[in-house]
Amino acid sequence: MGWTGRKDGRMGRKGWMGRIGRMGGKEEQPPRPHHPAFPAFPALPASMVVLALLTATAHAQTADTILVNGKIVTVDAQSSIREALAIRDGRIAALGSSAEMRKLAGPRTRVVDLQGRTVIPGLIDSHLHAIRAAQTFATEVNWIGVPSLADALVRITDASKAMKPGAWLIVAGGWNVQQFKENRRPTQAELVAAAPNNPVYVQLGYGWAMLTPIALKALNITSDSDVPSGGKLERDANGQPTGAISGGQGAIIALFDKLPKPTFAQQVEGTKKFFRELNRLGLTGVYDPGGNNLLPEDYQAVFKVWRQGEMTVRVAYTLCGNTPGGEFEEIKNLVALLPQGFGDDMLKFGGLGERITAAMNNNNRPSDAEKAKYYEIVKWAADRGLALTMHWNNDASVGQLLDIFERVNRETPIGGLRWSIAHLNDASENSLRRMKALGVGWTVQDAMYFGGDGYAQQAGVDAAKRVPPVETGTKIGVPIGGGTDAHRVASYNPFTSLQWFLDGKTVSGHAIRGPEETPDRLDALRFYTLGSAWFSFDEKTRGSLEAGKYADLAVLSKDYLTIPVSDVHGIESVLTMVGGKVVYAAGPFAKYDAGVRSVRLQADR
Ligand SMILES: [Zn+2]
Repeated sequence: MGWTGRKDGRMGRKGWMGRIGRMGGKEEQPPRPHHPAFPAFPALPASMVVLALLTATAHAQTADTILVNGKIVTVDAQSSIREALAIRDGRIAALGSSAEMRKLAGPRTRVVDLQGRTVIPGLIDSHLHAIRAAQTFATEVNWIGVPSLADALVRITDASKAMKPGAWLIVAGGWNVQQFKENRRPTQAELVAAAPNNPVYVQLGYGWAMLTPIALKALNITSDSDVPSGGKLERDANGQPTGAISGGQGAIIALFDKLPKPTFAQQVEGTKKFFRELNRLGLTGVYDPGGNNLLPEDYQAVFKVWRQGEMTVRVAYTLCGNTPGGEFEEIKNLVALLPQGFGDDMLKFGGLGERITAAMNNNNRPSDAEKAKYYEIVKWAADRGLALTMHWNNDASVGQLLDIFERVNRETPIGGLRWSIAHLNDASENSLRRMKALGVGWTVQDAMYFGGDGYAQQAGVDAAKRVPPVETGTKIGVPIGGGTDAHRVASYNPFTSLQWFLDGKTVSGHAIRGPEETPDRLDALRFYTLGSAWFSFDEKTRGSLEAGKYADLAVLSKDYLTIPVSDVHGIESVLTMVGGKVVYAAGPFAKYDAGVRSVRLQADR
């Protein structure tokens, strides 16, 4: 197509008019020129053009924002700590002493005095079901981190008053019995007392859910035959139903799918609120592994927030097959117009995951036919250069998966594709070596914070000392990302997860991990930043605070490096930036949070 602009690539007004004329003048609009002085006023005297040029040059060297008097934990190769940094055009322009950075300030530069506070690279959760959690965040009741059942019930009551009369009150997970000082689950009577006029649904992990009589009635559940297959009504010692439903993961997922979905407007609102909540905790990025209860249409809310330019967390998303047996066709259809990495720096396609086929999901003894079907899909993905992440829990059976990956790798090398295995808390040295040889990464979470007491009982105290073996993984050289697996089975709070990695203490306070597999604070932070960035091919643009990288960072309420480890879970951000824009600010920095929700990195989008 002819392009009538100037040779230097700048479009003169005439060039655009000519183009619009040819195009019929409807679809395409000229972009706003960056420097209107050039194309719009070609007759300006030469001296003014020179002046404009000089001003533009001076402006280009001036920082937009400078952070001074801080303790900036860069997570660079030397683990340097710096005092100050300068931001220009969304990226880090330089780091150094406060005096050096002040030299980059111009009259319009925002200078933020950190008053000695610690700054870290924005945290990145490499396995957070963010799209799913976000969708319902505006309409769910949140029990994450609540210290007592009494407080949790108050949240139900508060929600019943805040929401429309008769609205569903849904706790979708993220809590655990041991976090409550009462150390037990709620009874149906307690939930009824908390919200007598609402249907109430409280799910625990993927194995149990308590429903009030109004909720059971709304779902037409009166006997075991009304419960999704694999589940049943729980009964007390007298054989009376308690209101709870227990069963396998499939039953609870199917039960959850019966609940009413938030409206699209509620999903969009929930997405913005959830990202803001993550910003409050210093998160600026997630790798979303797809997963249960997430269908293709469920991505529309995050897509809308992206189109509106209101993303405050960078998201790499993945796609699952959802129909047992039909996954290959589904994936082929979904990916037909979706190349790996497609999108931009706020939202992009990150490949397949974490459930490639239903048959291989949580299946420790897959049949040859099931493995053949799985092989067919991942071989196809390798040929097309797709990344993928795969959920696998037990080392004893992970060889089934690694055999397939190795077979694919012999035919189509996967070393550059950033495939990964999620969970695998009891990974053996042998499995980690096989992963390293394949270039397969490992996303680790704090699943054992909730599950560690049970695991220690089941597998023994010695086995529990090495879950997850991140020091061994580091020595072998497996790429490791930090994270949570929130929000059904875990809290999304990254500082809860970081503390778990540092003290190995479960939610009930038992220290189960030994020192051999306990990282130091900088290494744990590295998993959660640069380590996580690797899974979406972003370690060169974010994950550490270095010149040229995006200014994604969090100023912390307490010094992560020196406070007692037992206090790490209480850290919050007081100033979070994504691409140099303030997305959250509180306390001494609240004045910077001028209702800014919009992070628009590409001026021309
Ligand atoms: Zn998983």
